[in-house]
Amino acid sequence: MQLPTYDDVAAAARRLEGHAHRTPVLRSRTADTLLGAQLFFKCENFQRMGAFKFRGAFNALSQFTPAQRKTGVLAFSSGNHAQAVALSARILGMPAAIVMPLDAPAAKLAATRGYGAEVITYDRFTEDRQAISQRLALERGMTLIPPYDHPDVLAGQGTAAKELFDEVGELDHLFVCLGGGGLLSGSALAARALSPRCKVYGVEPQAGNDGQQSFQRGEIVHINTPQTIADGAQTQFLGQYTFAIIRRDVDDILTASDAQLVQAMRFFAERMKMLVEPTGCLGFAGAQHGGVALESARVGVIISGGNVDLARFAQLVAP
Ligand SMILES: *Cc1c(COP(=O)(O)O)cnc(C)c1O
Repeated sequence: MQLPTYDDVAAAARRLEGHAHRTPVLRSRTADTLLGAQLFFKCENFQRMGAFKFRGAFNALSQFTPAQRKTGVLAFSSGNHAQAVALSARILGMPAAIVMPLDAPAAKLAATRGYGAEVITYDRFTEDRQAISQRLALERGMTLIPPYDHPDVLAGQGTAAKELFDEVGELDHLFVCLGGGGLLSGSALAARALSPRCKVYGVEPQAGNDGQQSFQRGEIVHINTPQTIADGAQTQFLGQYTFAIIRRDVDDILTASDAQLVQAMRFFAERMKMLVEPTGCLGFAGAQHGGVALESARVGVIISGGNVDLARFAQLVAP
C-alpha cells in the first residue's frame, strides 16, 4: 500500500485552485482569553457546499479518465461527502449516484438532490452501505469514491491545513475533527511538511472513540454506529490509508462529549457569528476540554463544516 505524501496535498491544492474557496482564518479575542492561547480558526464551514469535503471529492473526481467520467461516480455518505461528490460531478459534467442513510438530515438529502445527483437511501442501523455501494458500482460501471479511505480524497482534505499553515505560519498545536480520518490524515501530512514541530490531534465523539482505541492499540478497532449529535463523525472504523498516516504522524486522539459540542456551537454562534454543525465543533471542543496544556501557544483549530438544519440547530442551542 503506497501512502500519499505532502506532494499529493500540494498537487491537490493546484487542482483545487479556482474551484474551491480559500476559506478565511478567523481569530477571536474571547476564545484566546478562554484558552489562554492564540487561536487560529480555519473556517471550512464557509467552503463550497458548506464543508471541507468538497476538497477531497473534487481532487479525486478531477483525476478520472475520460471513460470514468462517462459512467460517472458513486458514493456512500451520511451527508457532506454526498454533497461534495454531487457538486464536484456537476462541475466536471459527469453523472453521480449517492447512497445515503434514510435518516440523514433533511437539508443534506435535499442539497444532494439539488446538485443533480441520484439519491439511493438505506437503513444505517441494519444495512451495510459498503456492500450496497459496491454492488451498484459493479452493476452500473460507476467509480466508487469512498468518503475518507482513498489517497486522492485524503490528499484533497489536507489542503485546508496547508492553507492554514501557508497563511499563519508554524503552529504549536493543531486540533482536527475526526470521523474516518480523511481530514486528520491529510492535515497531518501538511503539518509534518509545513510545521514539523506542530502537535496534531484528532478529536472524535466520546460516544464513538474507535479512533482513540485504534491509536492506542495499534490496529483498526471496529465499533457499532455511535449515538451522537456529531452526525459527520458516526463512522465505525478508520480506513487503511488514514490509519497508517494517523498512526505515524498524529500525536494523540481526544474525545468530546455532545454537551461540549453544544457549548462550542453556542460559542461560535454567539461570539463569532457563525453557524457550525455539531461535527464541526469537535476540534474546538477538544482544544478546550481535551486536557492539552495550551498556555501561550499558537493553536490551529479546523472548523470542518456548517451544514445543519436550522430547526435542529435551534433545538440544540436553546437554553
Ligand atoms: C466528514 C466530516 C468530518 C469527518 O471527516 P473524516 O475525514 O471522515 O474524518 C468532520 N466534520 C464534518 C463537517 C464532516 O463532514
